[in-house]
Amino acid sequence: MNASANANLFSRLFDGLTDTGRLAIETTDGARISYADLIAQAGRVANVLVARGVKPSDRVAAQTEKSVEALVLYLATVRAGAVYLPLNTAYTLAELDYFIGDAEPSLIVCDPSKAEGIGKLAGKVNAKVETLDADGKGSLTEAAAKASPDFVTVARAGDDLAAILYTSGTTGRSKGAMLTHDNLASNSLSLVEYWRFTKDDVLIHALPIYHTHGLFVASNVTLFARASMIFLPKLDPELIIKLMQRATVLMGVPTFYTRLLQSPNLSKDSTSHMRLFISGSAPLLAETHREWSARTGHAVLERYGMTETNMNTSNPYDGDRVPGAVGFPLPGVSVRVTDPETGEEMARDSIGMIEVKGPNVFKGYWRMPEKTEAEFRNDGFFITGDLGKIDPRGYVHIIGRGKDLVISGGFNVYPKEVENEIDAIPGVVESAVIGVPHADFGEGVTAVVVKDKAAAVDEAAVVDALDGRLAKFKMPKRVIFVDDLPRNTMGKVQKNVLRESYKDIYRK
Ligand code: AMP
Repeated sequence: MNASANANLFSRLFDGLTDTGRLAIETTDGARISYADLIAQAGRVANVLVARGVKPSDRVAAQTEKSVEALVLYLATVRAGAVYLPLNTAYTLAELDYFIGDAEPSLIVCDPSKAEGIGKLAGKVNAKVETLDADGKGSLTEAAAKASPDFVTVARAGDDLAAILYTSGTTGRSKGAMLTHDNLASNSLSLVEYWRFTKDDVLIHALPIYHTHGLFVASNVTLFARASMIFLPKLDPELIIKLMQRATVLMGVPTFYTRLLQSPNLSKDSTSHMRLFISGSAPLLAETHREWSARTGHAVLERYGMTETNMNTSNPYDGDRVPGAVGFPLPGVSVRVTDPETGEEMARDSIGMIEVKGPNVFKGYWRMPEKTEAEFRNDGFFITGDLGKIDPRGYVHIIGRGKDLVISGGFNVYPKEVENEIDAIPGVVESAVIGVPHADFGEGVTAVVVKDKAAAVDEAAVVDALDGRLAKFKMPKRVIFVDDLPRNTMGKVQKNVLRESYKDIYRK
């Protein structure tokens, strides 16, 4: 394989780079890392990986806090032809036992505080352990400092694996989504164009880097564009507003936008230097979209993707960014809506299963061939598990996860339809509608509602407001008020947690 035929993502990211002195990443404590630094550091770490016995196609697992060094570990792993396996920092040792046993990495990089516990798990699969802390220090960095920056990027074919990302596994076991060099490169390059990234962009990067959003969408897109990013360890609304004075793009989950809206410092003025606000990973409420537009003059661009598929759809750069919609299929990506029972394609505006096909779609689930086969159609479409529709203008709308559908008295109730009605009631902040076991109906439609502290809304007021707007079978049988909805780090409402909390409310 000659150099130009090398499909390694690292080569595609950096081989054509001429101006290596450009700034790639800056951190909030003042470090400035150029593209040349990043490439050299990735070379050093790749040399350490090889010295530790990591071979092409081996897995390198990382449970590390966010740091530039952690991003370098990802780049170095890919450069060495190995497979990067990031793990959510919240995972406990008991959870890690499953991931490590399943993925059988040859090297695990973790926070020094976890080295002892992880060392025991590593021993079971003969993996070596290196450490890396939140400041980028640890045995990996020490070894890298002594290693050479020169490293010949290992040639890879387009469908070789670059990464395995475990799905969040809210229903059953987490599955390892196998992502190839082609999957990652094609999706990032397509987003660079769609979102008009250029080398002059400065991205505010406040997302975690163990998830597809912060790792691939944010980092790969920035690097492919030769742009730069400001790395924040976590969401810090006031700091983000300050950085907006010199940044151009923010990528966030919906919680970023609701939190930023709480600041009195968010205004047309404070966002005037920004060109683009992107949201994804969970539904952005139409109301948040509208409030954001009113306050800043910017329409948030919402897009839709998932671990298995990278990004599938996006609202347009020019043209209407429709509140509550996730936009059009990206170039080269096909999206269709099918009848979940028969698999037949449905007419426009009908709600069904969203299926996608394209160079972005993963290769399958790691060591789960039956699961993989079950979730792909014969013609190559992946069954996302998301219910949605395509409207007459071609915009895709997500209605919710299929598993969140409520079936009450034999009728399908789409939670989002009920949530939209409840959210429109004055004094309601947001809501989550779930189905919980009910002796007569199978599942009882149940609304969990967050209201404004000062609002006088109660259960009777919600039921009254919905009366006449929703068919009887869609009406909540109970309305429960809570201070906050449970969310994971990507801002997704954890309906499985709610279903567990309220599973007995209809028991006599
Ligand atoms: P993850 O694999 O963690 O990225 O989660 C993917 C899931 O998040 C998708 O299957 C959707 O259910 C949901 N999701 C992602 N983006 C959006 C969006 N813009 N609107 C609604 N749901 C979304």
